[in-house]
Amino acid sequence: MMKRSAIVVLILAFFLAVFAGCGSSGTNTSDQPAVKTGTVASTVPSVLSTDNRESRPPAASPQPSGDGVLKVHFFDVSQADSILVQFPDGRNMLVDAGNNDDGPAVVSYLKSKGVSRIDYLVGTHPHEDHIGGMDTVIRAFDIGQVYMPRATTTTKTFEDVLLAVKEKGLKISTARAGVTVLDQGSLKVNFVAPCGSNYEDLNNWSAVTRIQYGSTAFLLAGDAEAQSEEEMLAYGANLKADVLKVGHHGSSSSTTPAFLKAVAPRYAVISVGAGNDYGHPHKETLAKLASAGVQVYRTDRDGTIVFTSDGKNITVEKLGSTVRPRAPDAGGMVAPVAPVMPTGSGGGYIGNKNSKKFHRPDCRWAAEIAPHNRVEFRSREEAVKAGYVPCKVCRP
Ligand SMILES: [Zn+2]
Ligand SMILES: [Zn+2]
Repeated sequence: MMKRSAIVVLILAFFLAVFAGCGSSGTNTSDQPAVKTGTVASTVPSVLSTDNRESRPPAASPQPSGDGVLKVHFFDVSQADSILVQFPDGRNMLVDAGNNDDGPAVVSYLKSKGVSRIDYLVGTHPHEDHIGGMDTVIRAFDIGQVYMPRATTTTKTFEDVLLAVKEKGLKISTARAGVTVLDQGSLKVNFVAPCGSNYEDLNNWSAVTRIQYGSTAFLLAGDAEAQSEEEMLAYGANLKADVLKVGHHGSSSSTTPAFLKAVAPRYAVISVGAGNDYGHPHKETLAKLASAGVQVYRTDRDGTIVFTSDGKNITVEKLGSTVRPRAPDAGGMVAPVAPVMPTGSGGGYIGNKNSKKFHRPDCRWAAEIAPHNRVEFRSREEAVKAGYVPCKVCRP
C-alpha cells in the first residue's frame, strides 16, 4: 500500500505536470462543451485518470427509474454543503458531503431516499466542510464518476478522499468550466467554473455546477468567491438559474452584484450552520438578495430544503425538523444510534482537531476520532473557547 504522503507528492507532481489551464480561450457558451476531459499520462496514479467520462453507459446502473421530475435536496449539514440531485431518469448526483462528522448522516439520508448508487459524485473543492464526509459516502455506495477540480491540499481529509477513491478503483475526472457531465434532451449538467488554473484561495477552485431541466435551472456555486464569479462572467457560459446555491455560505466574499444579475435567481439557498463562527450569512449578501427580490432559504432555519422541477415549474419543500439529529424516525440526517447521555454527568469532552467539533465522551463520533486528531476538554466552555463547535448528534 502506498503511503499517504507518497500519494500526495505524486498527485502534486501530476497536477503540475499534466494539466494546462483552461484559461479564457473557451468562448463557447455552456451549450457547446468545448473542453473534453483532460488526457492523462499513463504513469500517473490511476486514481487521477480522467478519461472514459463520456463513454460510461448511462443505463448500466440498477438504479430504480425516476419519477420524471428533478429533485434537488440541500441537506442541513450545518456549516457545510451537501446536495443530492435526483435526475428524472432515476440517476443521482451528490455535490459535496458535509464535514468529516457528517459522512454517516449523509449516507443515512441518501439511503432513506432509496439511493443505492451515486452516478456522479462532485467534490467542489478540497475544504473539509465540502469533502469531509466524502470518503464515507464513497465506501457506502456504488459510485459512477467522481469529479473534482485539480486543486490539491495536504490535509488528512483530502488524503482520505483520495484513498477511498483509490480503494474503490475509481478515477477522478477534472471539474472545470466547459466540461459537460450530462447532455440528454431536456436535461443538461455542466460545470461553469473553475475557469482558471491558479488560485490562492481554495474556495475559488470550486467546481460550479449548472443543472438545466426543461426551462428550469439550478446553479450550485460551491464556495466560489468574487474572483471566480468574475471569471465565470468573462468566460461567457450561461449562468442563468431559477435556484442559486449561494457561494461560500453567504459570505460577503461571494455573490457580487454582477454575478447575481447574470444568474437572476428566483430562489437562493444558503447552506449554513446556526451561530457559526464566521458570521455567515453576511448581512451584505442577504441585503443584495433581498433587493434583487430573491426568496432566500437557509438550512439553519429551514433544515433540509428540497426543490422539485417538472421542467417548467419549481416547487419548494422545507423539511425542517425531519433532518434534525434528534428525530430518528423522520428519515433525516440521523445517526443510526443517537447516543443519549444524562445531562450534567460531567466527564469532559472530546474534540476533533480536524473537524473542530467536540463531543460527549460516549458519542459514537468521538470514538471514531483518530488519535492524532483527538483532544480532551475539561468543560464545554473550554471547548467553545478553543473554537470548537458542538456535535449535532450528541449535543454536548
Ligand atoms: Zn465551505
Ligand atoms: Zn471552502
